Amino acid sequence: VAAQQLTDHHCHGVLRAGGDLEALLTEGSGGESAGGTAFDSLAGLAFRRWCPPLIDLPRHATVAEYLQRRGALGAAEVNRRFLGASGLGSLFVDTGYAPEALHSPAETAAFAGAAAREVVRLEQVAEELAASGVGAAGFPGAYRAALASRVAAPAFGVPVVAVKSIAAYRVGLALDAPRPADGEVAAAAGRWLGGTGGGHGSGPSGGQGGGGPGRLADETLHRFFVWCGADLGLPVQFHVGYGDRDVDLHRCNPLLLTGLLRALEPARVPVMLLHNYPYHREAGYLAQVFPHVYADLGLATHSVGSRAPQLLAEALELVPLRKFLFSTDAYGLPELHYLGTLLFRTGLSRFLAARLDDDDIGYADAERITRLIAAENAASAYCLQT
Ligand SMILES: [Zn+2]
Repeated sequence: VAAQQLTDHHCHGVLRAGGDLEALLTEGSGGESAGGTAFDSLAGLAFRRWCPPLIDLPRHATVAEYLQRRGALGAAEVNRRFLGASGLGSLFVDTGYAPEALHSPAETAAFAGAAAREVVRLEQVAEELAASGVGAAGFPGAYRAALASRVAAPAFGVPVVAVKSIAAYRVGLALDAPRPADGEVAAAAGRWLGGTGGGHGSGPSGGQGGGGPGRLADETLHRFFVWCGADLGLPVQFHVGYGDRDVDLHRCNPLLLTGLLRALEPARVPVMLLHNYPYHREAGYLAQVFPHVYADLGLATHSVGSRAPQLLAEALELVPLRKFLFSTDAYGLPELHYLGTLLFRTGLSRFLAARLDDDDIGYADAERITRLIAAENAASAYCLQT
């Protein structure tokens, strides 16, 4: 497991400079709401256990010592050390949130010596279209054209391999199943483009820049985007479950997608349920009963720190072993890419070692399952040669 190169099928770029560790470590808002104690969590304890040695400090070094040494090394060296130690072979990078502060997908992957691919956020294409002054009547056709050209001519110079929906952040996952008619989409676009909208804060998983029309949060539009992505034959990633305070977590259970998953099945595109925590068992069930549905744990892996092996074991209870993928969902800090890979390897290793000890599997199976989850499942779901 330690030697296997990992395909991270959903992550974000690393910051070009700086970074608020307290704010980026968990989905809380850092010091201000957590009283400066984001590090007093399993995520924080795992960070202090595993990260300091990579910047020449003893494990469990204090946060103050860590910040001082990190600042002295500089962002480029920190990015190189942590991504270089992650054993990543390929990164699929979601470029939908604040890309100007981040290294590009290719730059981020280069720190790891890995290949880069891009995941395009469906809602961002709509927001760019709105900023260009599109009218409601022309919106459905204009969106289809904009998404197709965004995929065909990638903005970051690396191939686009998937699209991603953040419906969970805006309206929850109780989306209707049918493909909406253009008339319904145009009516919904008219409400959005003419509205004032509120807009909560923003975060790496769900945020949106300010300005323009109101906050994009319309069930018909989010559903329309998903169908447009499927029409292009690309895997559709869904944010599911755990996220920052912008989500109403009770509306992010993947079981709410059941009708839409059923409707999408004939389209024969993979649907990737991302993160899922605390609904990872529900996601495993959906991956078992729907041939086109896949699941991962994403940022839940580093978020639960030393409990990652138990979490991974739960996630693997029902999911077909050919339908479970690795991802970090790391954003901004290369430490999170590193922790995500390290804790995942620990979890998978312990899971397989326990199966071997109990003689549930043989050694060849352990090796095969490792290769599947590390990279081969992603390669076949995304139709890639690795
Ligand atoms: Zn993400």
